[in-house]
Amino acid sequence: MNKSPCDILICNGQLVTMDAARTIHSAGAVAVTGSRIVEVGPDTELRARYDAEETIDAEGAIVHPGFIDAHNHIVHTTCRGVFGNIHDVDASTIKFADWKADVTPQDEADATAMAAVEMLHSGFTMFIEPGTLFSTEHAAQAVERVGMRALFAPPYLWDRRETLAAMPGLESPRLMARAPVNRDRVLGLLDAELHRNQDPDALVRGFVFVYGVGTASPELLQAAHALSRANNLPLHLHAGYAPGEGEIYREVTGVSQLVHLHELGVLDQNTVIVHANLLDDDEEAAIRESGCQIVWSPISFFSLGIARTADFRMAERYRRGTPVSLGADGAMDCTPAATMLAAHSAARVCDDPLSPSALLEMQTTNAAAAAGLQAELGSLEPGKRADIVVRSPRAAGSYPANNPVHLLALTLGAGSVETVLVNGKFVLRNGRSTRVDELEISRAVTASVAARAQRLGIDLGPGWPVAEV
Ligand SMILES: [Zn+2]
Repeated sequence: MNKSPCDILICNGQLVTMDAARTIHSAGAVAVTGSRIVEVGPDTELRARYDAEETIDAEGAIVHPGFIDAHNHIVHTTCRGVFGNIHDVDASTIKFADWKADVTPQDEADATAMAAVEMLHSGFTMFIEPGTLFSTEHAAQAVERVGMRALFAPPYLWDRRETLAAMPGLESPRLMARAPVNRDRVLGLLDAELHRNQDPDALVRGFVFVYGVGTASPELLQAAHALSRANNLPLHLHAGYAPGEGEIYREVTGVSQLVHLHELGVLDQNTVIVHANLLDDDEEAAIRESGCQIVWSPISFFSLGIARTADFRMAERYRRGTPVSLGADGAMDCTPAATMLAAHSAARVCDDPLSPSALLEMQTTNAAAAAGLQAELGSLEPGKRADIVVRSPRAAGSYPANNPVHLLALTLGAGSVETVLVNGKFVLRNGRSTRVDELEISRAVTASVAARAQRLGIDLGPGWPVAEV
C-alpha cells in the first residue's frame, strides 16, 4: 500500500481527542499537514498509512488539544507579589487601578511574552484577553513572537460608572484619565481590533469585550452586540462579579443586569457572560432562556471571599447544558495550569462537584466556543487547526497513567509539557521555546516590574530580610 505524505506524525501517545464522542486512544497518533490535522487514530494504523517528514515519539505520554484560557487579563500576570488582595484598597500604597493605568507599551509587551511562554509550558495554546491592553500592537507582536494564539479587544469599553462603587480597587482618577468613561470614546473604538480577522491564519484575532459589571449603557450594549453579530464574533462582558454590583445596577436601572441584557436583545448563544458568580433567580432564568455562554474564573471566585455566601450554580449550569468555560482572570497567585484544580476545589467547597471530564470540556471545547472558534479549535479532529500539546512522560503528576482525563484536569501542572504545535508549527520542543530566548524574556519582565514598582513607590520585598550580594 502506498503511504500518504504528511508533514508531522505524532505517534505513541495517549490521545485525549475531545471529539464529539470523547474518544481516547490509549496508543494513538495524529497526522498533520500544513496548519491542519489530517487524521487522528490508532498508532499502528497511522504509522502504516503515513509517510511523515518528521515523526515525534510521545513515549506514551498524554497528547491533547491545546487548552484555551477563556479569560485572561494577560498583563495582570505581572502583579505577582504586588497585591495581597486587589479589592482591599487599604492594604497597599496604591490601588490596583493605578497599577493598571501606569503600564507602558513595553511593559505590556514584556508581560505578554512572559505570560504566553508560561502558558505554552502549561499546555495552553490560546488565551482571550478581555480588553485591558492599551497597546494591543505591542502585545500582539509578543504573542506572535512566542507563537501562541490570542483574541484581543479594544481597551475598557465602559460608559457609566455607578456600579464601580462596589469595586473600589478597579477605579481611580488615573485609570479613568487613561480610559475615560465616555460613550463617544468607546463607540468609536468598538471595531478597533477587527482588522486582524482579515487574515484567516492570523494568530491574534479581534473581538468585542464590553467591560461590563454594570458599566455599559443600553446604547453601548446594543452597538457592541450588533457589531459582533455582523462579524460573526462572540460578545463578551463581565457580569455578576462582586457583591454590591447587582444591587447598584438595580437601583440605577430598575432591573437586574442580565434581565436587562435579555430585554435589550443582546443576550444570545454568542453572548458570553464572564464570572456569573452572583446572579438572582430572574437572571438565572435569562441565562436559561437565552442560551448564552458563561466563562467562570474559580480563582477570582475564591479571592473575592464569596465561597461561603454565593449561591453556587456552576455545576448545575453545566449539567443543564449551559456552555461553561474557564479562565484564569489574572494569573497573579498561580499559573493558568491551576484553573481546573481551582474549579474542582471551588465546586467541592460548595458541595456540588465538577468531574475532571467536565473541567476538561470547560478548558477545551467550551473555551473554543467562547472564542467563536469551535469549528477550528478545541479538539483533535481532522480538519481542525493543529494546536497540539504533548506532555512529558517524565512530568510529576503523570502517573499512574490509567486515567488521562483525571491527570490532565487535576495533577499535570505547569512545566509538564514536552512539545507544542500551534497552527502546525513547533513552538515548544524538548520543553523549550523554539522561537524565543526564554531567559531573556524572564529578565525583561522582572526588570519591567521592578521599574513599575519604583515609579509607583511600591515595595516588592517579601517582608523578610533580604541579604543583598
Ligand atoms: Zn476579567
